[in-house]
Amino acid sequence: MERTLLADLAGKKGETAAIQGWVSVRRDQGKMVFFDFRDRSGVVQGVTLPNSPAIEAAKEVRNEYIVSVEGKVNERPEKNRKAGVQNGDIELEITNIEILSKAEIPFELGGEVNLDTHLDHLPFTLRTERSRDIFTMQASILDAYRNSLRAQGFTEFIAPALVGGDAEGGAAAFKVDYFYDRTAYLATSPQFYKQIMVGPFERAFTVAKIFRAEKSATTRHLSEATCLDFEMGFIQNEREPMAVLEQAVKDTVRAVAEAHSDVFARFNTTVPVVPEAIPVFTLAEAQALVAKEYNRTIEDTNDMSPEDERQICEYAKKNLSSDFVFITRFPTKKRAFYTYEEPGEAPLSRGFDLLFRGLEINSGAQRIHNYEQLVARMQERGLDPKKFEYYLQAFKTGLPPHGGSSTGLERFTARMLELPNVKEATAFPRDMNRIDTLLSTDKKD
Ligand code: ATP
Ligand code: MG
Repeated sequence: MERTLLADLAGKKGETAAIQGWVSVRRDQGKMVFFDFRDRSGVVQGVTLPNSPAIEAAKEVRNEYIVSVEGKVNERPEKNRKAGVQNGDIELEITNIEILSKAEIPFELGGEVNLDTHLDHLPFTLRTERSRDIFTMQASILDAYRNSLRAQGFTEFIAPALVGGDAEGGAAAFKVDYFYDRTAYLATSPQFYKQIMVGPFERAFTVAKIFRAEKSATTRHLSEATCLDFEMGFIQNEREPMAVLEQAVKDTVRAVAEAHSDVFARFNTTVPVVPEAIPVFTLAEAQALVAKEYNRTIEDTNDMSPEDERQICEYAKKNLSSDFVFITRFPTKKRAFYTYEEPGEAPLSRGFDLLFRGLEINSGAQRIHNYEQLVARMQERGLDPKKFEYYLQAFKTGLPPHGGSSTGLERFTARMLELPNVKEATAFPRDMNRIDTLLSTDKKD
């Protein structure tokens, strides 16, 4: 018999059907055995009655076994119907049950486990409803973001993950042994490549893997992250990339809200609020505001601390009804070497960050597009322009004024569901202590 997805079972009331899936719960009541089954489309309850030819087989089955089941789709009596539950008004009366795969499970799926236990058992724990919710939502975020940028005239390209040098000339990069005894690096950002792509496309975007070797063990840093990057030509200043980003955020939040209202509810959170215009504060304004509002002193006036980020977001949520805040006018020296300085407000730059529910999820800027200025900036920073000749070709051969930004997919997802740790929003997180398995500090192999 052909497989019916659980989501389609309700249309087969009174008929026999074949389903395949996982046993979420098995309740053996002696004479009868009840099951909660799940597949990619949903859930259903099954029952093996005492006189069913499947009763012996049903007793063999355990939680998380993968099964192929045949049965009759019965309407449940009124008193047994479960309102608000998928297939709550039907039950599969099992006539045959075949085990496709047994399962030896380390613990029951879906109970509370701490993050380390979750990460230690990812091939199993990714099957929880919680994980499936997170990564289904992440797939929607990715889709919506791409659609929004396409609709705004951007062309997608694939950026390389292996690069000849460390792009930012700062962030710690992982070294890779390359051919002819050369050293290559894992890209810390697709920055150079998206700027180059302004040449052919004017508006280009990429979903890129970035690798950062900084030894930071925080709830917001990964060694390998995914960035949604775009770059656009013919801009007046940073406000234009900010507007593109704002539109992408609105489109993404709307799409995710439409598709996943049930997920927000399961995570005890709400659809993020994006006002018509996301509030914009300069760094100085934001810090003055939180200093006053929270009666504290600011330690570093050159950058937002995690506490500053949390507090300005809390303020914006309470007073401006926004889960998002833009911060502008960071000092040029705190930003990457290619960042454009605001001529009227030097030494402040045209760089910006987008904060979401207390955390930076995006950085962007207008970039220097003039070849001589860019070379001069490199020299000021002690970078050797010779090492950047490849990248500099784009400028030598002419680039329009341009700018763009980079959103961390994992951070965006984590804040969407208010997950405390970005690792929960990463299917297979890599950090200082883990690549799939824990890295032991006293053992090298
Ligand atoms: P932070 O200051 O929080 O360490 P950053 O300013 O170094 O981040 P950018 O170079 O601005 O990061 O990268 C753009 C975006 O990419 C960030 O806003 C963030 O969302 C994401 N991102 C960068 N590095 C990481 C990382 N190590 N782990 C997870 N996401 C990251
Ligand atoms: Mg940043």
